[in-house]
Amino acid sequence: MVRFQLGGSYGKNLEMGDDTYKLRRKVIEIIYDANKIVRLPRINVIITERGTKEKINVLGIGSLVGLNIWIPKHTLKLSPLKIREVVYHEIVHTICKQAGHDEKCLLMKASVSNKELTRASLDKRLKEYLTGMRKY
Ligand SMILES: [Zn+2]
Repeated sequence: MVRFQLGGSYGKNLEMGDDTYKLRRKVIEIIYDANKIVRLPRINVIITERGTKEKINVLGIGSLVGLNIWIPKHTLKLSPLKIREVVYHEIVHTICKQAGHDEKCLLMKASVSNKELTRASLDKRLKEYLTGMRKY
């Protein structure tokens, strides 16, 4: 599966209701965890649904302008660690506007791999990007 970084939203933004709220909560909890590692500004989370024109393999989008993360509903069916990987990846795009993809980094590769990163490894990489220890 491929993860793209785009400047706009992806698919249709879902209306806020109990179901959307629950999905959004999953993402927000991961952002709270990230905020414990490095203090973050407030990030808006938008849950979307793929339309007919959108590619199914997009797992998330971090905005290049502003502080928005769009997560398609289908991403939230992945394993908890994969969801965390996608959300951390988009946090890096959203906070470090200059961060592009790095094929040598398991967090910032353009595509997610089959390999599952551990929580500790994800936390470490996120911290490195957000504190400027890792160059992009
Ligand atoms: Zn990306």
